[in-house]
Amino acid sequence: MKCRDANRKPTMQTMTNPIVTKNDKGRYSAKGTCAKCGGNMFKFLSQADAEKLG
Ligand SMILES: [Zn+2]
Repeated sequence: MKCRDANRKPTMQTMTNPIVTKNDKGRYSAKGTCAKCGGNMFKFLSQADAEKLG
């Protein structure tokens, strides 16, 4: 079960083992595992966030 708030929007949980990728449009994203429920997570990142995650 994925983490959702009362409005059924995904809530931002800590992501473990994030894998940062950059798509062909220069957009950064990260895939990882939710630290809370263990579900798969995906989110877009700013360049600064991407560089922080490595
Ligand atoms: Zn979760």
